[in-house]
Amino acid sequence: RSLPVDASEDGGPRAVPGACFSRVRPSPLENPRLVAMSLPALALLGLEAPAADREAAEAEAALYFSGNRLLAGSEPAAHCYCGHQFGSFAGQLGDGAAMYLGEVLGPRGERWEIQLKGAGLTPFSRQADGRKVLRSSIREFLCSEAMFHLGIPTTRAGTCVTSDSKVVRDIFYDGNPKSERCTVVLRIASTFIRFGSFEIFKPTDEYTGRKGPSVNRNDIRIQMLDYVISTFYPEIQEAYSDNSIQRNAAFFKEITKRTARLVAEWQCVGFCHGVLNTDNMSIVGLTIDYGPFGFMDRYDPEHICNGSDNTGRYAYNKQPEICKWNLGKLAEALVPELPLEISELILEEEYDAEFEKHYLQKMRKKLGLIQLELEEDGKLVSELLETMHLTGGDFTNIFYLLSSFSVDSDSSELENFIEELTNQCASVEELKVVFKPQMDPRQLSMMLMLAQSNPQLFALIGTKANINKELERIEQFSKLQQLTAADLLSRNKRHWKEWLEKYRVRLQKEVENVSDADAWNADRVKVMNSNNPKYILRNYIAQNAIEAAENGDFSEVRNVLKLLENPFQEAEGFREVKEEAEEEGATATAAA
Ligand code: AMP
Ligand code: MG
Ligand code: MG
Repeated sequence: RSLPVDASEDGGPRAVPGACFSRVRPSPLENPRLVAMSLPALALLGLEAPAADREAAEAEAALYFSGNRLLAGSEPAAHCYCGHQFGSFAGQLGDGAAMYLGEVLGPRGERWEIQLKGAGLTPFSRQADGRKVLRSSIREFLCSEAMFHLGIPTTRAGTCVTSDSKVVRDIFYDGNPKSERCTVVLRIASTFIRFGSFEIFKPTDEYTGRKGPSVNRNDIRIQMLDYVISTFYPEIQEAYSDNSIQRNAAFFKEITKRTARLVAEWQCVGFCHGVLNTDNMSIVGLTIDYGPFGFMDRYDPEHICNGSDNTGRYAYNKQPEICKWNLGKLAEALVPELPLEISELILEEEYDAEFEKHYLQKMRKKLGLIQLELEEDGKLVSELLETMHLTGGDFTNIFYLLSSFSVDSDSSELENFIEELTNQCASVEELKVVFKPQMDPRQLSMMLMLAQSNPQLFALIGTKANINKELERIEQFSKLQQLTAADLLSRNKRHWKEWLEKYRVRLQKEVENVSDADAWNADRVKVMNSNNPKYILRNYIAQNAIEAAENGDFSEVRNVLKLLENPFQEAEGFREVKEEAEEEGATATAAA
């Protein structure tokens, strides 16, 4: 159903009952200009790198991808969705800042939805302004592309366009609110439909009493489900008859598995999404909505990247269970098209198993365990992570380093390698931050008392685990209190040596099972190097690029993008030097 095109005329929040989309128009920006573009993403739409007049091409891109000019045939719309935010039903949310422009048939016949994020008010903007600023847009732009090049399912970003239009955001550097440049990202995906898209049919939430925007619209729910399955899961549509419960069950099973695999991928690169609400869960299993996300530097299972996530609901180690919980909410939203008894069974049978399987497979590759799949591998992985945690090891760099560990290194090589690993670990002061006790001592002793008087109840509400964690933290913290830097170094070396011994034993088992150990080693290194990135989008790297861009220099954003396009390789400069050296070596050999 169409609603007035200019959503800004009534200013405030608007309930949009009985609709999945509202027609909208991007609000123009002053002096739009291109910050950066991703050529591989634009190629999806059949757009090529400008051959001749790059400046003119960039100006044209800025015109269209700011929303100032509409592409021919485009009929912009904002999507109405609901969502569970931080565990409770939030009612109508919808595209408050994003606008769907339409669909593009790519050169290989694939169909892409394109969106502008930050293009102005929509009926779903609620109290906000429908705009995005340079820093949030650069983060979304860079991370979308970084994830794609890491091989992780994600929405893509084609361009990032900034402008002279300003909005005020609540960042205070000097006591004054800061006005920031309105910026727009061109997003590309097969679809932006989310779990929350199906939650618009929820009549009234039993807990919050909040109403969804739409009641009794079974007809629309069926249409949306038919659309999603036939368009994005055509093999399932073909295998089952229209509308059947079996078809819907097959779809739910598939999205359950995709989601489980997606989270496993996140865990394996240390990615924290930060806002895993049901409205940020893609119906086709993509990473969607890059907000306060973060890649972990030092491994900390309880790492929280969202400053407003006070309870740690979306902490790194919670992501798998939270996504499962979100699938449970999708299941509720699919009733009666899919009865809950069926979907709950699917979720129980498929999710954890698929997650574990994919996680372990990926971790085996990261460790170069390419020959055998052993029961004990899970333990080796968790002991590695535990060692990283205890020593404050850098998640990305430690995995990256492991490919240069040799199964038959002698004792001095081992020493050197341990030295390299410990160089990637935290200082005493940094570790104290990781292990800082979090409970008030009085609160802790009270809980300990209660836990003793009623252990079953405590185990039931999960408090026992929290107490144990806190006790562990206290123990580690008090050990750290007395450590000097030299103590820490020898302690870290001991920890790493202990784990490396186990790793070596495990690698030895691989060697025993191959006829050609050199070929095995070459394969192992290759697999490891294509599964352990050298480059990830660390917060400080994004921040540097953002600050340069805020000062009018977009070259950092473009450089960082280039690095992230080849995350598994060394940077261009390094590669050239290395190749030259190799060439010289080759010529010398030939001459000899
Ligand atoms: P998020 O937490 O980013 O998933 O956003 C939650 C809701 O807020 C969604 O409905 C968004 O469309 C909306 N929203 C986020 N940022 C803005 C903005 N700048 N203007 C209007 N709506 C927004
Ligand atoms: Mg969102
Ligand atoms: Mg967002």
